Amino acid sequence: MRPLSRNVLAALEPRELELGLDMGSSHMLRHWRYGRDGQGVAWLLFDRMGASVNTIDEEVLNELADVLRLLLPENPAGIVIRSAKRAGFCAGADVSRFAGQIDPNEAERVLLQGHMVLDAISELAIPTVAVIHGHCLGGGLELALACRTRIAVDGSKFGFPEVLLGLHPGLGGTVRSVGLISPVEAMTMMLTGKTVDTTRARAIGLVDVVTQERHVAAAIRDAVAGRIRPPAATLRARIERLPALRGLLANRMRAQARKRAPEAHYSAPYALIDLWEKFSDRPGAMRNEELRSFAALLASRTAQNLIRVFYLRENLRKMGEAGKPMTHVHVVGAGAMGGDIAAWCALKGLRVTLSDQKPEAIGGAIRRAEALYRKRHMKDVEVRDALDRLVADPRGHGVAQADLVIEAVPENLALKKALYETIEPRMKPSALLATNTSSISLRDLGEDLRNPGRLVGLHFFNPVPRMELVEVVAHEDIFDVTFSRARAFVRQIDKLPAPVASEPGFLVNRALMPYMAEALAMLAEGIAAPTIDAAAEAFGMPVGPVELADRVGLDICLAVADLLARKQATPPTPGLEKLRGKVARGELGMKTGKGFYGWNGDTPRKGRAGDPPADAADRLILPMLNACVACLREGVVAEESTVDAAMIFGAGFAPFTGGPMHYARTQGVEDIVRKLMELVRRHGPRFEPDEGWMSLNS
Ligand code: NAD
Repeated sequence: MRPLSRNVLAALEPRELELGLDMGSSHMLRHWRYGRDGQGVAWLLFDRMGASVNTIDEEVLNELADVLRLLLPENPAGIVIRSAKRAGFCAGADVSRFAGQIDPNEAERVLLQGHMVLDAISELAIPTVAVIHGHCLGGGLELALACRTRIAVDGSKFGFPEVLLGLHPGLGGTVRSVGLISPVEAMTMMLTGKTVDTTRARAIGLVDVVTQERHVAAAIRDAVAGRIRPPAATLRARIERLPALRGLLANRMRAQARKRAPEAHYSAPYALIDLWEKFSDRPGAMRNEELRSFAALLASRTAQNLIRVFYLRENLRKMGEAGKPMTHVHVVGAGAMGGDIAAWCALKGLRVTLSDQKPEAIGGAIRRAEALYRKRHMKDVEVRDALDRLVADPRGHGVAQADLVIEAVPENLALKKALYETIEPRMKPSALLATNTSSISLRDLGEDLRNPGRLVGLHFFNPVPRMELVEVVAHEDIFDVTFSRARAFVRQIDKLPAPVASEPGFLVNRALMPYMAEALAMLAEGIAAPTIDAAAEAFGMPVGPVELADRVGLDICLAVADLLARKQATPPTPGLEKLRGKVARGELGMKTGKGFYGWNGDTPRKGRAGDPPADAADRLILPMLNACVACLREGVVAEESTVDAAMIFGAGFAPFTGGPMHYARTQGVEDIVRKLMELVRRHGPRFEPDEGWMSLNS
């Protein structure tokens, strides 16, 4: 056993007093503190050393075993497990331990130890109580499930996010969750990675009690005295556990999973469904299989790439760390983008004023905001508060008070410049002026400003509530403080800032353009639209290029294509004339109900996909990689990892590949260049490898 620091604390720290603990004296290891209260109940406080949130790893679990070995001989009346961190109970496994962890035998060994600790807790004869506040995710939820009773402080969140890393729970959580609640509910949580709140957790039986912090002590007394009985299995759960039904339910889950993540690229959901289908009536066997399956998944390229994506996201987050928070944002232009940007900022707690030359556009935006809030299942009072923060301001009075003015008027240089002339003099000297332009150079936009140093691009993607990325666009005259405050603002509203330079199309649109342009060339060759889209989707893109063009709007695609062709002297795309014809006829895609596809609302009417030519995926994907390399060479983006992150979070580039640059590195740069040369030979100079590949190779 590890030597103990028997450091008896004379007095408890204030945050523990706030937690309502009365442990008498307590002892501490590195990550756990423990003691007994006046009623003989043993308390285990999870307090991971040197971190603001609790995460679980081998050391944490080993220490937990040590604490149990020390406490159990003293015959406690019960055991309470609780977190000492303000942020919550536990955020899940320490993901850093997963990166590069590709020896399945080693992974199985670690997991087996973890299983033994949690099994020991679940087999104790005395009452065991997990008291949960804040987030309770992944391994943290597995730990809570090993306890007999779960008491949740109102506002807690529960989830199994492992699937987002290409994994499933690995500490017995698959077995315990399907045994406790409706198997379909449990599987849905594990298959989607979505979190549930306390109301839902109570309704599905994941927790036994939801209460306020001040009533926690009483709830613990009830649990230890055996006054909180676990609910009997619901009729629904009993039916779902019938062996005769399991195959049917499993197949339905597979069909659902296929819609979100094809098995060829993401095996975790299918491994989890197999596990449940084959073993859920034999918990012992399921536990062993869970462990084996987890270890195999962890070693897979998909999981390792998704773990990389987890860090890519963290890196983008860090890019928005320094900067004074904004309190008031003014948005000019209440159209598709401005309206949604304003709604999002109000949702995230900012005071927002919204102006437009057409008052009806503001009304429409506020109605859309309310629909968005309702769709996110916000409580009535939260909807009311968010709508209170979103103020219709047809005359633009907010410009004078705002810390940040975001311009989202139509894509027209003269229009935008004329607007700046009227708003810049009214802005606070310290306020930032941001433009949502997709293609106009910031240098051109800023040339008549009194203070171009405060101009920045904040390029949001459509639809704003769903797209996490915002390109934060710098230019020659920008002040450092403008750039860092703009990035911090993006973090403040829970989006991911990707710093880019003001070159046409920035990064994401510039890389997506050749993807869509090549689809035009394929259409011109007579390949059917659904066949082209299917080829891209089989590679792992979330939306095929033809459907994407229809969704973005063919007018916008044409404008960007023309702009890029003008500025970069790219060879003309075959099929561009077909696009021009459609735009001239007003067939603009989803928004007009007809583009390359006919549309029912936001669903395209696609026919059957045929067999694509053998090089179809390369034709669509490699030009995207080529554009990314050009952006790196030109300094539009500084780092390969930023390119990967921006393309995954802004364009949905197949996450299981780890991003376009990582994909190129994995495939081999020489191999990609060779394929591009082959495409040049077969289809023309538009596939010419960018010279940037040469420096990548070195
Ligand atoms: P939109 O046409 O839907 O909305 C523009 C709004 O601005 C309209 O409501 C219009 O009444 C208003 N407006 C026009 N002139 C004005 C003025 N002088 N003062 C106040 N309001 C005025 O346009 P959108 O699609 O929201 O695009 C806005 C900006 O966002 C453009 O620069 C566009 O390039 C960029 N953008 C668009 C998308 C997209 O997918 N639509 C994506 C990223 C960026």
